[in-house]
Amino acid sequence: MDSELKLEDIVSLAKRRGFIYQGSEVYGGLSGTWDYGPLGVQLKRNIMNLWWKMFVDERDDMYGVDAAILMNRKVWQASGHVDTFTDPLVECSNCNARHRADKLDDPNKCPTCGKEGTFGEARQFNMMFETFVGPSAVATPIEDEKGENYTNEKTGNTLLAYDPSQVSYLRPETAQGIFTNYKNVVDSFYPDLPFGLAQQGKAFRNEISPRDFVFRSREFEQMEIEYFVNPDNWEESFEHWISQCKEWFKALGLPEGRVHELEVEGDDRAHYSKRTVDFEFDYPIGREELMGLAYRTDFDLKNIEDNSGKKMDYTIKGTNTRFIPHVIEPSFGVERALMAVLCSAYREDEQNGERRVFLALPEHLAPIKYAVSPLLKNKPELVEKAREVYAKLAKENPGRVMWDDNGNIGKRYRRQDEIGTPYCVVIDFQTLEDGTVTVRNRDTTEQNRINSAEIE
Ligand code: ATP
Repeated sequence: MDSELKLEDIVSLAKRRGFIYQGSEVYGGLSGTWDYGPLGVQLKRNIMNLWWKMFVDERDDMYGVDAAILMNRKVWQASGHVDTFTDPLVECSNCNARHRADKLDDPNKCPTCGKEGTFGEARQFNMMFETFVGPSAVATPIEDEKGENYTNEKTGNTLLAYDPSQVSYLRPETAQGIFTNYKNVVDSFYPDLPFGLAQQGKAFRNEISPRDFVFRSREFEQMEIEYFVNPDNWEESFEHWISQCKEWFKALGLPEGRVHELEVEGDDRAHYSKRTVDFEFDYPIGREELMGLAYRTDFDLKNIEDNSGKKMDYTIKGTNTRFIPHVIEPSFGVERALMAVLCSAYREDEQNGERRVFLALPEHLAPIKYAVSPLLKNKPELVEKAREVYAKLAKENPGRVMWDDNGNIGKRYRRQDEIGTPYCVVIDFQTLEDGTVTVRNRDTTEQNRINSAEIE
């Protein structure tokens, strides 16, 4: 990563080249939401598929699940999210801007209007998005003892209430969809401990101040694992997951020196966690959390047992030893991984006296692996041969080969460099004679002639 790299460089490249756009942009946007364009989707999928391959497909102690986003609200009551999934919110009495109190540079100064001493006491703001389930979800006016409707003093609007039984939430984490399926998977597969359940999917948090591009969004994607262990052996599993997280950072191509392991101490840990390690990354916005690893004891399964009345214990095969397993939870955020990948890959150099921007993405993550071009697009014999090469590569690398005949070759190379395409394949007149093509390497800009059958 370039030490001078600014977040704006990444945001502008992401938009210009079709990775990530502002959500609902044509209507002025919707704060904290982002839309993925064609290359962003491919990059995101490459990251998520790699994770699934490493942590589910290639292991025999992991099981995948894909739970519903909408869950019974009792899930969120039992987990503590209804009462405590909050951030401290302060409001400026001068400009009415709202800020997250624990993320202010100066706790006394409003970053919107610059005035000092305008914040009152912080109040706890619940970050879950509430929603209503079922066609009968109709709000009714709240009445006082005389049967008159309550109104909001400022706006004059009638205050409405929903039947709490219809209230649900967009899940603020994927983890609870795993815990609620623990018993199902045990009953179907009866795996030996330790074993894990993995899930990828959307999570929603009504962040007080979404910011820093996709780093803090209101809708984002998580990849989470709940790894169930015998409480006697939790430390061993915790260490195992520390090393697995490091393998993951390597696979993402993150430079080792930019990832930092932070042991979260005492009061900074969630109350149920006996040990938490946050992995932080040096983003252009500073050193911030990339992902977290927590030892959650039996907190979640015990809560489910207490609130549902269903047993969550596990019997070690062939014995009478029963207990509620403890849990190690590695929790990965897709957006923060993707942002770290883009920041690590961003490069600028000079080629033939011109500034060049390129993404040195690892080959397995680059959205496009090969760009195929005929040297001249008005020569049908070159186009025909190039189409042949394109079709063959596209078949072997579905979705990751681009046909590119726009502008001259120099422009095509620059465009492909910017989106991180490792190889540009050019078909020219010599190809027609001897079947060789030019393969140009993104990082070195070197060009080699090789037989078109041997590109892969
Ligand atoms: P932060 O302290 O930055 O708000 P957190 O500690 O609340 O994060 P967790 O609840 O541990 O985050 O969520 C696990 C992971 O999910 C995070 O490490 C991060 O990668 C991702 N994540 C959490 N909130 C967001 C968000 N608003 N936007 C994007 N990713 C997020």
